[in-house]
Amino acid sequence: MTTLPETTSGERAAALAPQLTAWRRHLHQHPELGFQEHETSAYVAAELGKLPHLTVSRPTETSVLAVLRGGQPGQTVLLRADIDALPITEENQFEFVSQNEGVMHACGHDGHTAILLGVAKLLSERPEDVSGEIRMIFQHAEELGPGGAEELVQSTSLMDGVDVVTGLHLNSQLPTGVVAVKPGAFMAAPDMFEIGIRGRGGHAAHPEEAVDPVAVGAQVVTNLQHIVSRNVSALDNLVVSVTYFHAGTTHNVIPDSAQLMGTVRSFDAELRGRAPQLIERVLKGVTEAHGATYTFKYEKGYRPLINTDWVADKLMTIARSEVGEHAQLAQPSMGGEDFSAYLTKAPGAYFNVGSGNPLLESDYPHHHPRFTLDEESLVTGVRMLHAAALELGKPGA
Ligand SMILES: [Zn+2]
Ligand SMILES: [Zn+2]
Repeated sequence: MTTLPETTSGERAAALAPQLTAWRRHLHQHPELGFQEHETSAYVAAELGKLPHLTVSRPTETSVLAVLRGGQPGQTVLLRADIDALPITEENQFEFVSQNEGVMHACGHDGHTAILLGVAKLLSERPEDVSGEIRMIFQHAEELGPGGAEELVQSTSLMDGVDVVTGLHLNSQLPTGVVAVKPGAFMAAPDMFEIGIRGRGGHAAHPEEAVDPVAVGAQVVTNLQHIVSRNVSALDNLVVSVTYFHAGTTHNVIPDSAQLMGTVRSFDAELRGRAPQLIERVLKGVTEAHGATYTFKYEKGYRPLINTDWVADKLMTIARSEVGEHAQLAQPSMGGEDFSAYLTKAPGAYFNVGSGNPLLESDYPHHHPRFTLDEESLVTGVRMLHAAALELGKPGA
C-alpha cells in the first residue's frame, strides 16, 4: 500500500475499520429487496440509536434519517447511502454469505450503509467540529423503479432547506482506494421498452402460410442497431440494447407472437425524448414490411445523474487532500442511479470509491453472484464522506 496523506478524517476512519467490517458483514448476511428493507432499517436505526447527539427518524416505512446539528453555523448537507439488495442467488463461499435465499447485496449497498454509519459515528463524537446541519439518509429501494429517492423527494420533507447533497458508490472496476469524481454528466437515464410482435402461427413446414414473428423479430433487433450507428451523432451517447427475446414452444410450430424487451441509456434530454420515436419507426416499418403487427411500450426510468460542477470540484479538492494521487477524474457511466432525484431539489455531486482488488477477487462486476467488496474501501469511503460533510457544511461552502 502506498502512503496516504495524514488527515484527521483519515486517522479516525482507519480506527473504525473493525466496526465497519462488522456492520457490513451483518448487512451482507441479511439482505432485503427494495421497499422490503424492514430488518435492515431496524438494524440501522438501532445502531444510530447508540450514538450521541443524533435525531433519528423514519421518513418512510423502510428508510432511516439521522440528523446532526453542528456546533457552528453553516449549511444543511444531505449525505445519502442506499440500503437495498438484489434478487440474485449468492455464489460466494465466505462465512458471511447471504442467509436470505435468492437475495444478495451484489451492488455494494451493504458497504454504503456501513460507510454512512461510520460517518454518523465520527460526526456525532465531535459535533463541535461540525458546521451547519448534517442529514444522513439511509435510502430504501435504489434498485427498484420508481426508486426510493423519488419517494423521499416527493412525499417527505427530507429535502426542505437542504443546501447541498452528496453520496458515493463503491466501484469494483476501480482499484481499492481510488476516489473518482466528475463534474457534469456522470450517469445515464435508464429507460426501458417492451415490444410485442404479432404474426400468424402455423406449421413450420409451411412458412409461406404463416407470418413468422421470430423472423420478423430478428429483423427488428438487427434494425434497432441502426439507431445508434446511423441515426445518432457519434459524439452523442446512446445505448439501445434488446435484452429479452421470447417466442415459441417447440421445433415444428411457427408461433403467433414474440415478446422483446430492452433498455435505452442516454444523458441528453433531447436525445432521450427522440429515442422512443426512433425505435417505433423501425418497429412499424419492419413489421409492416412483413405483414406483422406490433405493440410498443416505453417507460422512462431515473433521470440522468448530472453532477453540479462546483460541488464536484470541491469533492475533487477534498479527494486530493484525503487520498492524494488516488484521486482521479471519473469516467461517465451508462448505468443509472436514483440519486439524480435529489439533484432536482439541490445542487450536489455523486462520486465513486474503488473497491476492486484482484487478490481478494473483489473485481467481479456489480450485480454478479460473486460480487464482493475489498473492505479496505469502507475506510476510504468514510474518510471521503466525513471530510466532505465537514467541508460542505461550512458557511458559504
Ligand atoms: Zn446496482
Ligand atoms: Zn448500486
